This record gives sequence, structure tokens and C-alpha cells, in this order.
Amino acid sequence: MEKIVIALGGNAIKQADQKGTYEEQLENVLKTAKEIVKLVKKGFKIVITHGNGPQAGSLLIQQEAGSNEVPAMNLDAVGAMTQGQIGYMMLQTLTNELKKADLDNKVVSIVNQVLVDKNDRAFQNLTKPVGPFYNEEQANKLKELKPNWTIKEVKPKTIENRFRRVVASPTPIRNIEEDAIKIMVESGLTVIASGGGGVPVIEENGMLKGVAAVIDKDLAGERLATMLNADAYVILTDVKNVFINYAQKNEKALQKENLETLTKYQNEGHFAAGSMGPKVNAAMEFVKNGGARAIITSLDNAYDALLNGSGTQIIK
Ligand code: ADP
Ligand code: MG
Repeated sequence: MEKIVIALGGNAIKQADQKGTYEEQLENVLKTAKEIVKLVKKGFKIVITHGNGPQAGSLLIQQEAGSNEVPAMNLDAVGAMTQGQIGYMMLQTLTNELKKADLDNKVVSIVNQVLVDKNDRAFQNLTKPVGPFYNEEQANKLKELKPNWTIKEVKPKTIENRFRRVVASPTPIRNIEEDAIKIMVESGLTVIASGGGGVPVIEENGMLKGVAAVIDKDLAGERLATMLNADAYVILTDVKNVFINYAQKNEKALQKENLETLTKYQNEGHFAAGSMGPKVNAAMEFVKNGGARAIITSLDNAYDALLNGSGTQIIK
């Protein structure tokens, strides 16, 4: 039975043009669950990971807005809270869809930690904006109030509100709960893990400690897929293929590509940082670490990509 790790992109939970009400999110997750159940039906052993950007962003705004009454939680705890929320929505929709399909597979979602190196250079060069936008006055006040935060001018939402907290985006090393995940997967459970890239933790004197950081979910998913010896690592986003010369007249969809060709395209700058870049990186990393194939495609093409080889397939 083929074992696959699926990394779900933002639109699997919230479409760009949506406000993000609970009902909207649940409806998107339901669509995702239907696609995943098709794969369960086909006999794939499945591990699911997902992003949490919009959910964590909203929760941080709520935390701050309520902080006069109750204390705001730290960023790592906010990450864990969104793993819980999204995991719950997936558990419910998957359980319902499996029942409709007369399948008795069991699903589990776990809150889990991902180890990063406390000396990772990313902690010296903070690149990931999180939470609300602030005006200059708010930004200055926060700098006093939160001496361990870094507030930077970012691409503005409005002219006034151009400041945001930025945190590190360190490289994931491994899932702390990897042995537990392995046991669950091998025993036939469909597992949801490492959501939002996992809750980032460092090791200090042999002990774990949460840090204010955001781990790229596609890279964290690669760690999961490699650890599990998955047959395929499937990154689902909102495009059916990776392109070269993307969004230009001469754009070309990539079908089946090896590491050598992709490295060349990468060096030529075809894959944008912060969107397709990390996905191609993560896919290549999986194959470099011994995985047979990685796939980048859209949610509704996942089934066809796995069974018929469509989408963008990355091989050694
Ligand atoms: P997700 O939220 O699914 O993780 P992102 O929005 O971060 O995904 O990245 C997917 C987006 O990357 C696509 O919608 C597309 O606009 C953009 N993109 C940038 N470069 C490319 C490329 N070379 N080929 C395809 N899509 C690209
Ligand atoms: Mg997106």
C-alpha cells in the first residue's frame, strides 16, 4: 500500500477572497476532505499537513484586541491553537465523508512540535511578518512594551499602517513526536500532523522550549515525508503545475522533471520566494533524501496526479 504525505495549501482552508468565517472555512475543508477520501478509497495510507497563515493571523489580532481583559498567548501557543482548530475541522469532515463512503478508516489529528536549531541564522534575520498591521505610534509603544519583539516597516496595508511584528522562519529539523506519528501511520490511521509547519521548539540543555517563529509548512512536510519513508510527497496548492516563466507570455507548465533541470530553473529564478520557491525546494529535498517522487499540483488534480502522473512530478 502506497504511503503518501499531503501538504495542503492556504486555499484548502480559506480562499484569498473570503473573510474567513467559520462556515466558509468548514466548507473549504469539506471539499478537501472529499478529495482525500477518494484517495483513502483507493487504498493510500495518508498523512496530512496544512498551512495556518490566515488562521494564526486572525487569532493574533483577537489575542491583542482582548489583551486588556485577558493575557495574550505567545506565538508558539497560538500556533498550537490553530493546529487544534484546523485539525478539528478536518477530523469532523473526514469522519463524515468516510462514513458516507462506507469506509471504516480511523482519523486522528495531533498537536505537535517541530525542532529548529537555536543557532539557525534565521533568528538573526527576521523575515516573516505576523499578526496585525500597526501605525507608527502603535509601533513605538509596542517596542517599549514588548522589548523582545521586532517591529519592522513592511509592505503597507495602508500608508499609516505599515509596521508589523516580524519573526524568524528557521529550517525544520524533525518532528519531536515522529515516533508516535510513525506508530499511528503504520497501524493504519490517517494522521493530521505538523499543521502550520509545526509548533517551533528549540533544545536548551536537553529540554524543549517554544520559540517565536514560523516554520514553512512545505519544508516541515518534507521532514515528515522523509521520516516516514513515504512513497510520494504531494504538495497541493492552487495551480495544477509549476511553471517556468510563470505568468508571462512564454510560460510553460512543467510535467516530469529531474533534480538537475529543476536546479537550473531554480538558479534562473523561475520560482518566486515565499510562494512557489519553498514548494520546489521542499519537493527537491524529499527526492534528494531518497523519496521516489514529489508532486506539486492543485487539490482537485491530486487523484489524477497520483494515479496517472499529471501535475508537476519531481524525480531524481
Ligand atoms: P499555498 O498557500 O497553497 O501554500 P502559495 O500561494 O504560497 O501557496 O503559492 C502558490 C502560488 O505560487 C500560485 O498561486 C502562483 O501564483 C505562485 N507562483 C509563483 N511562481 C510560480 C511558478 N513558477 N509556477 C506556478 N506558480 C507560481
Ligand atoms: Mg496561497
